[in-house]
Amino acid sequence: MRVLLLGGTTEARELAHQLIAAGHDVTSSLAGRVSAPRLPDCTVRIGGFGGADGLASYLATERIDQVVDATHPFAAQITRHAVQACERAGVPIVRLSRPSWDNRDGAASWTWVADHTEAAATVRPDARVLLTVGRLELAHYASLPNQTVIARVADLADLRVPEHWEVIESRGPFSLTHERELLASHRITTLVSKDAGGDATSAKLDAARERGVQIVMIARPALPAGLIQVSTPEELVRRLA
Ligand code: NAP
Repeated sequence: MRVLLLGGTTEARELAHQLIAAGHDVTSSLAGRVSAPRLPDCTVRIGGFGGADGLASYLATERIDQVVDATHPFAAQITRHAVQACERAGVPIVRLSRPSWDNRDGAASWTWVADHTEAAATVRPDARVLLTVGRLELAHYASLPNQTVIARVADLADLRVPEHWEVIESRGPFSLTHERELLASHRITTLVSKDAGGDATSAKLDAARERGVQIVMIARPALPAGLIQVSTPEELVRRLA
């Protein structure tokens, strides 16, 4: 099958390899946000499609048989557009998404919030904060009072943050030892995170629990109704077969 794989995640790269191994003709699509992305070993296109209409035309022009949405759980717009485009073009779509962190030890005691505005409002003025929310969302936290804020980002390109913040450029996966050290050396008292799920960045949650660090967790956006979702690349490849 000719498969359009909407990517930008570790799982999408892994899935691309598995789909190729299963004999599919895969084009992987990236938004183009990261300056030096890790690319899967297949045809790659970069940049937006121009909304749901643009994506529907692309599906027709490229004679795509199947769309696989393996974008990040918080990339809600592309998922919405993909569902609409597939409906219009009559192409099936299935989603790959890593399981939420909501079943992890201690998850019930986290401060769950709906969005970044609520997360920023939850942070106490005397907290020493570690932000692991993605660089595009940091603006929501710019109004935090003059306190210790450490922002961890995967890419420094075009990053603008308040002068007194410390920025750490680092890409996961992160080990438990690494996360323990980070929280201890900066005497972090509050960790703000999105419910990204998966193992690559989950060690921070264990390290925070051990140290009694408050975890402010932003819940995932809702998925479009009826979208079929699986949680591993293997399951997805089996489904297409
Ligand atoms: P978004 O808000 O859902 O999408 C914004 C627009 O970016 C879409 O309407 C689309 O433009 C374009 N786009 C997004 N993903 C695309 C893809 N895979 N291929 C082609 N165009 C894409 O997305 P986002 O939250 O900015 O995330 C952008 C990308 O980064 C996603 O692919 C996602 O997997 C990855 N990512 C996101 C996060 C996160 O926390 N949001 C974390 C890690 C990785 P058009 O409307 O012009 O088609």
